[in-house]
Amino acid sequence: MVETIDIKIEKVTHSRIDQVDFDNIVFGRNFSDHMFTADYKNGEWANFQIVPYQDLKLNPANSALHYGQSIFEGLKAYRNEKNEVLVFRPDQNARRLRESAMRMCMPELPEEIFMTGLNKLLELDSAWVPSGKDKSLYIRPFIFAMDDYLGIRPSDTYKFMIITGPVGAYYSEPVKVKVETRFSRAVEGGTGAAKTAGNYAASLYPAKLAQQQGYHQLIWTDSKEHRYIEESGTMNVMFLIGNKLITANTGDTILHGITRDCALTLARDWGYEVEERRVSVNEIIEAAKNGELKEAFGTGTAATITHIAVISHEGIEYNLPEVGGRTLSNRLLQELDAIKVGITEDKHNWVYRIL
Ligand SMILES: *Cc1c(COP(=O)(O)O)cnc(C)c1O
Repeated sequence: MVETIDIKIEKVTHSRIDQVDFDNIVFGRNFSDHMFTADYKNGEWANFQIVPYQDLKLNPANSALHYGQSIFEGLKAYRNEKNEVLVFRPDQNARRLRESAMRMCMPELPEEIFMTGLNKLLELDSAWVPSGKDKSLYIRPFIFAMDDYLGIRPSDTYKFMIITGPVGAYYSEPVKVKVETRFSRAVEGGTGAAKTAGNYAASLYPAKLAQQQGYHQLIWTDSKEHRYIEESGTMNVMFLIGNKLITANTGDTILHGITRDCALTLARDWGYEVEERRVSVNEIIEAAKNGELKEAFGTGTAATITHIAVISHEGIEYNLPEVGGRTLSNRLLQELDAIKVGITEDKHNWVYRIL
């Protein structure tokens, strides 16, 4: 790729890669040798650097800590059998980061900074991209406010960073989920469609209560009536009723998932009817009762597809069909895994080669 920004590179003297047990990787705990950083000051992005992964020095009045002007992205790089390093739809993450920035009153990051930073960082830390089933390098780009100021207003200064780390499978087991009818993740007019820190902080308490009741995750419903299904945990959620794939339409309260888009695109390619619309809890529970609900699953970068085994609503548990017999979600998982490593033809130009 054409180099459009100048990056100052400081390499580690000794790699930490030998300290990582690649066969037992815990999500989000291991970080590669280097990180990319850029600073926003005086109305522009500058100071592009790749440096050894290290702690940050922050002023205690840092406004991101107090008021949460902080946004992030999540994507993955894969190593295939030809030893190539492939990244899945990074342009979409760059776009969504700009959309999140707009909502949170933060400066947009030009795509060329995102892409060039990502490219250079992955080139340098390519040894950290694992090969093998379900393994990948998780990539976490993020932007946060850097003003040392306790007044409530948009910060004038920001930092953009990319950190990466190897990961294995995320949820391997089908999950039990509970329809949440008290708490909300997002509200109309709120920040639910932005990948911003506070949304995740707000979801921790309801998720903890659900876990104490024996569920892995929640199904979030609309904040006004708790009658319509929005997402599941930090994933978009889809239902197969007959030959129809149904999911909530995106808007203020729903994150525009990239895996969601892939699943809908492939399902359409394969001749399924796809409906993006309001999905009522009643409709899903009725379909579960009369056996028409064939599949329910979450979509997201971390796990790609997470099968839902049990849905609980108002104290009643509905068991869904055996995961082994679920044709669509299993095919989606297989197809996406194959596209990501270049085994299946990449008809929609989703794969971006780094090395
Ligand atoms: C990131 C995220 C998703 C999934 O988005 P992908 O682009 O598919 O990874 C869905 N819902 C929420 C709330 C998220 O934060």
